[in-house]
Amino acid sequence: MRYISTRGTAPELSFADAALSGLARDGGLYVPASWPKLDAAEIENFTGLSYVEIACRVLAPFMEGSISDAELKDFATQAYKTFSTPEVAPLVKIGDNDWLMELFHGPTLAFKDVAMQFLARLIDHLLQQRGGRITIIGATSGDTGAAAVQAFRGSEAIDIFMLHPKGRVSPVQRRQMTTALEPNVHNIEIDGTFDDCQTIVKRLFQDLGLRDQLSLSGINSINWARVVVQAVYYFSGAAALGVTDGKVAFSVPTGNFGDIYAGYIASRMGLKMDRLLLATNVNDILVRTLASGRYELNEVVATHSPSMDIQIASNFERLLFDIFNRDPARINAAMTSLAENGIFSLDDTAIADIRSRFAGFRADETETLAMIRDLHARMNYQADPHTAVGLVAAQKAREQGVIADDVSIITLATAHPAKFPDAMVAATGIRPELPAHMNDIHTREEKCASLPNDADAVAAFMRNHAAILGNGTSV
Ligand SMILES: *Cc1c(COP(=O)(O)O)cnc(C)c1O
Repeated sequence: MRYISTRGTAPELSFADAALSGLARDGGLYVPASWPKLDAAEIENFTGLSYVEIACRVLAPFMEGSISDAELKDFATQAYKTFSTPEVAPLVKIGDNDWLMELFHGPTLAFKDVAMQFLARLIDHLLQQRGGRITIIGATSGDTGAAAVQAFRGSEAIDIFMLHPKGRVSPVQRRQMTTALEPNVHNIEIDGTFDDCQTIVKRLFQDLGLRDQLSLSGINSINWARVVVQAVYYFSGAAALGVTDGKVAFSVPTGNFGDIYAGYIASRMGLKMDRLLLATNVNDILVRTLASGRYELNEVVATHSPSMDIQIASNFERLLFDIFNRDPARINAAMTSLAENGIFSLDDTAIADIRSRFAGFRADETETLAMIRDLHARMNYQADPHTAVGLVAAQKAREQGVIADDVSIITLATAHPAKFPDAMVAATGIRPELPAHMNDIHTREEKCASLPNDADAVAAFMRNHAAILGNGTSV
């Protein structure tokens, strides 16, 4: 499979090169040149297969030409061994036709592990094959950084530098990063906000000298390999219910449009489904876009579901590319308008097309906490605040008749409640417990550098510590 950029001028790449490059050189995102299809009989046969076997069948056509079937199977097997259940994404019944899909049984207790554990093995393999090294840099508000550090710790050909805002991630999130003492892991707390961290990372990517010197690479959800790996659990969820006639909908707590776009990938590959329910907190740019056809930036508001406190939903560009009949000129026009005026508008055909596949619902803070409280009271189940946003969307979709009663709704449970104890206490008065293997996280040794909010200081630190320059020393 070949990969093309949504902006039309970056070179076509193989799967391997797209996985290693992240953002395209023209500023666009890589997408497959065409959508591979699985036939209905094959999808029906997924019922009864293991998660790893389903992953191999779903991912093989995307990796063709770069990764053999045996290698793919090996990455998936190794990646999902780190999960505390072999089902990887087990379903829990919470109503007549309502289910949760628990995606938080990986090492850092959020769904980011599902793709990151796979990606680490894939990238390690590609670098071993090519004999090179790369330097990964990222900014995190908590979950992505934790998943990336846990996945890449100890990798021989990779240094990872992860920036987080000092004092603004939860203690569990911080310690999932800082207790990785391996010399290739470099955590940096920045005296600033998450936006400051992200601005520094963007500046370092624009510093072409540094970019080439360190072979900089990104692992957020603009990386195609990361998003496509998430398509697997839409298939496994439908297979577990044995529903192949389209009478299943998914409710997806959304920030960067990555996880829900993975649901769209599954649908383009032939998985029959009812609408994808796009669930946001009060940072609702995507819900507003579905309602008005206008994608318009607003202020970011801090909520109980911080991993969705986002305004620029990067992966939306991948959906628009298809909606615009894969015409890069239309993508460029929309993105220029967004950069210059903070807004772009969709025509009636485009918006109707999006609405045929997606329905958007927003949950405010009161609704989110009430949902956590009600589910706990009804079933003694603790849903984390991100998951609760998805449950509110599912409930509204039923109440408004958007999803019929005979259609199953699977809501994606994206994090373990123990990652967000303050919200859980606010909703239920109960502090959820961490799984036993994480009991000692609050007493383990930490390693973290502390730097001012200054891109030059971070660049200097990276040059001093990156193994690619022969500086393999630990912080
Ligand atoms: C990252 C994250 C989300 C949002 O996922 P996107 O792919 O950015 O839409 C939702 N819930 C949790 C717990 C997350 O960590």
